[in-house]
Amino acid sequence: MIPYKHEPFTDFSIEKNRTAYLAGLKTVEAYLGQDYPLVIGGERVTTEDKIVSFNPADKEEIIGRVSKSNKELAEKAMQSALEAFKTWKKVKPEVRADVLLKAAAIVRRRKHEFSALLTKEAGKPWNEADADTAEAIDFLTYYAHQMLKMKDGMPVESRPGEDNRYDYIPLGVGVVISPWNFAFAIMAGTTVAAMVTGNTVLLKPASTTPVVAYKFIEVLEEAGMPAGVVNFIPGPGSEVGDYLVDHPKTRFISFTGSKEVGLRIADRSAKVNEGQVWMKRLIAEMGGKNTMVIDKEADLELAAQSIVKSAFGFSGQKCSAGSRAVVVEDVYDVVLERVIELTNELTIGNPTDQSNYMGPVIDSNSFKKIMSYIEIGKEEGRVVAGGTGDDSKGFFVNPTVIADLAPTDRVMQEEIFGPVVGFTKAKDFKEAIDIANNTEYGLTGGVITNNREHLEYAREEFHVGNLYFNRGCTGAIVGYQSFGGFNMSGTDSKAGGPDYLGLHMQAKTTSEMY
Ligand code: NAD
Repeated sequence: MIPYKHEPFTDFSIEKNRTAYLAGLKTVEAYLGQDYPLVIGGERVTTEDKIVSFNPADKEEIIGRVSKSNKELAEKAMQSALEAFKTWKKVKPEVRADVLLKAAAIVRRRKHEFSALLTKEAGKPWNEADADTAEAIDFLTYYAHQMLKMKDGMPVESRPGEDNRYDYIPLGVGVVISPWNFAFAIMAGTTVAAMVTGNTVLLKPASTTPVVAYKFIEVLEEAGMPAGVVNFIPGPGSEVGDYLVDHPKTRFISFTGSKEVGLRIADRSAKVNEGQVWMKRLIAEMGGKNTMVIDKEADLELAAQSIVKSAFGFSGQKCSAGSRAVVVEDVYDVVLERVIELTNELTIGNPTDQSNYMGPVIDSNSFKKIMSYIEIGKEEGRVVAGGTGDDSKGFFVNPTVIADLAPTDRVMQEEIFGPVVGFTKAKDFKEAIDIANNTEYGLTGGVITNNREHLEYAREEFHVGNLYFNRGCTGAIVGYQSFGGFNMSGTDSKAGGPDYLGLHMQAKTTSEMY
């Protein structure tokens, strides 16, 4: 088998690639507004009640109407997943991995269609959509390879006359609950990690991006996934989510989303309900409040570029986004000025237009939340770039820089999840790291310095799951920078990493005497 290598990003300065993306957009435009069913045990189930998916850049444009699951249908899906588990768990790991590898090949062939769909449904500019699709391909390929590495278990010692084995077996039915911000990559990655390890899955995608998830289910079916292995049940988190989290037959939950929902799931899943004979396992990857630390001995142009890219890529709606800049006081003014200049150069508008660096934020709630934080920022600090938004046609928030904040200000502590970056001063590098560590989160962080001792200090003291030196703090690549956070950022499950699949299995020891 070809060794794993991550899917390269598309170079859109090449005309052939631009043409291919535009052809993808045409394909997507031809199916906008269609109805999509639930998929339970391979059967299409249509409900009266629908989730309507809109284009966040153009509220009038409907991406699709997706059937909405409820408790009864969630129960039906659970029964189907329990039934499918009886056979899927016995399917050889090689065959399960083949489904993923073929799915990767199908997505690769339809790459620009998927990216264009992400542009329409999630408001992703071309390069961000392309990165989301590439990451989905990476998860499929990487987890297939990892499964093959783990299929024979781990070596253990045996004494003479004894044969000891240590094998991994699947857990059971897993509930996968995914967010909208990596509507393809995280949804697909968390689903296939659960299925390639021999479990069956109930997939509840985010309600703002269900169409891309449905398209992925079709890919899995085309790749040979048997009926019932992954069941597609979009629906309200409060109804379907709670029901499945509480369900006594749910063996594990793989959640990616906000801290608030993650903690609710942690709390509910810890309770043992009638008929339940296990403790549920929980993988929960949650929010962040990520800091770029800028030292005085640093490439200040690199610092400003890295802050801007980390803060405003995909409108700051990445869990890894750099929403705080902590700058050593000697260079604070220079870095801030350059960040303001770069921010003012950014273009914002409909992401189908390649020239727009930033598109919209995901929906009206998100728009209101971000604008209210900008108001708070005006009280706490000084808005030096952006500060405005327009939700007349879509949900556009201009990239915003708020200067002179105190490290404990709300804008510096709470996850805003939009294009807003706060600046604060530190008297020296050590104080900058202390400030960087002063939130309840611990997801990503970046340090820009040419001082080797300071890098080593940060390596030990900067307490985040993903720490980056002399670059921005977004853009983890599957298999290269395994992703997951500390503290309230989650269970540090390290998606796209060598240990990830193990979280979806249990190890069984057998010992035979000869
Ligand atoms: P969210 O928490 O609002 O929703 C995530 C998912 O949970 C959705 O599918 C939603 O429908 C579902 N849900 C809502 N209520 C539920 C309930 N009671 N029970 C079960 N499920 C329920 O998050 P979001 O707005 O979709 O995503 C943004 C958040 O996700 C941000 O906080 C971001 O930092 C985080 N995120 C983290 C990572 C990571 O790897 N750490 C990656 C992406 C996003």
